[in-house]
Amino acid sequence: MGEVRYRNLVGGEACDARGGGTIDSVDPSTGAVWASIPRGTATDIDAAVAAARAALPAWKQVPPLQRAALLRRYAELLAGASEEIARIECRDMGRPFRELLAGDLPACVQMWHFHAGICDKLHGDTVDVGFTSFNFTRREPIGVIGVIIPWNSPMSLFSAKVAAVLAAGNCVVLKPAEQASCSVLAAAELFAQAGFPPGVVNVVAGLGEEAGDALVRHPGVGRVTFTGSTDTGRIIHAAAADTLKQLGFELGGKSPNIVFADADLDAAAAGVSTGGVFTGGAGQSCIAGSRILVQASVHDELVDRIVEHARGVVVGDPFDAATTMGPIVSDVQFERVRSYLSIAEKEGATLATGGRTGAEVVGLDSSHAGGYWVEPTLFTGCDNTMRVCREEIFGPVACVIPFDDDDDALAIANDTSYGLAAGVWTRDLARAHRFVRDIEAGNVWVNAYRRIHWALPFGGVKDSGHGRDSGIESVLENTQLKTAWIDLA
Ligand code: ADP
Repeated sequence: MGEVRYRNLVGGEACDARGGGTIDSVDPSTGAVWASIPRGTATDIDAAVAAARAALPAWKQVPPLQRAALLRRYAELLAGASEEIARIECRDMGRPFRELLAGDLPACVQMWHFHAGICDKLHGDTVDVGFTSFNFTRREPIGVIGVIIPWNSPMSLFSAKVAAVLAAGNCVVLKPAEQASCSVLAAAELFAQAGFPPGVVNVVAGLGEEAGDALVRHPGVGRVTFTGSTDTGRIIHAAAADTLKQLGFELGGKSPNIVFADADLDAAAAGVSTGGVFTGGAGQSCIAGSRILVQASVHDELVDRIVEHARGVVVGDPFDAATTMGPIVSDVQFERVRSYLSIAEKEGATLATGGRTGAEVVGLDSSHAGGYWVEPTLFTGCDNTMRVCREEIFGPVACVIPFDDDDDALAIANDTSYGLAAGVWTRDLARAHRFVRDIEAGNVWVNAYRRIHWALPFGGVKDSGHGRDSGIESVLENTQLKTAWIDLA
């Protein structure tokens, strides 16, 4: 049992799992248990869906501006609680506190405001099909929507998805990731204070194969919006078949970050290293630019600069203001990342920098020696057929792949089952536009990387999923269209 005990939110009540089970939450910077969360199961999901369905008829009748006011009130409460919630998230999943406090949490607050602004802008169309009828469409809420999120950005994904679901007038049952539920469970406590009626928002922590699976299969849930791995996406797709649920999927990636010789190489080196994959969250990002494609004529120069950036990364205690990279989230994920370091070596890649893990990184005597540390690691001499260039590693590990010209770069970039994101570094405007057009990905950045904004739709193509978070598009995906025909004859 951990020091701090977090609880579910079901029907407006903070509660333990009905079966009494708990899951330990581990501080990944020490490997020690620091909190416990409920191990919700199908019984808890049943109760949460029942509460959501009971709340739905009255919630649907709340006028849009009143709904917006609740979202805004929630934004204000979240702003007030930001420091505490950032602290919890830092402890729970290891992203640097400074980054959460200055970046994620303020963005979350803005997401709630952005979605509040959409509440009264959801409308259908009138369609003229002839003189003798009046035809129009209505955008209506779907009903109860299941939200399943992973552990790498709990508060950001919770905010983006839940705000969109509520803006469209739905009720929600959210299942956070078992490795990192605490910040979201703490943030759930603010809904009652904001004035949301009980049951409109429910949060049930638990394991994916228990609570998550029950949510996906529940006949009372009309849509599931999921962010997580592609493998789990496939399992959810199959489990949702019986109830023909609508699905929104934001899955994995193996994103190319492409540097041309004409680029501003200083900006590109920063953008593909600390900006792309050697991130505060230790590369545990679906949009990590883990394939660095470099034009052959600047290969050696750019690799030197990337290595310099990698060595400048400060890996360690995420609460320390000097830290720029935290640990890997769990022992399971840590072992997975480590296994790819050996795979790269076996495949013949050259280790340009990094490669140390665990206590070797922070020192055997450190109070953080038990943490799941991986140094920023760069492999050169890679080609796109290697497993390390094809499989999502979800850690601070990148491969450099040289290319000759535009056609070569595009072919390598698109030679992947994934299609989430891509970066292009060039001063050639026409080339930038061609790559934006031709790259098979949901997000393309030019002379930038990992830039996301609540007003911009975010999501993938191919094995990276479908459906979009953020932007008005995500709110529309949480509505269903009704077509009306009124006979005038
Ligand atoms: P990752 O940790 O690699 O992102 P997952 O995609 O498995 O891994 O996890 C993302 C979320 O999906 C988590 O909340 C997890 O509990 C949930 N999940 C895992 N398996 C299932 C499943 N079979 N059904 C529903 N949800 C699941």
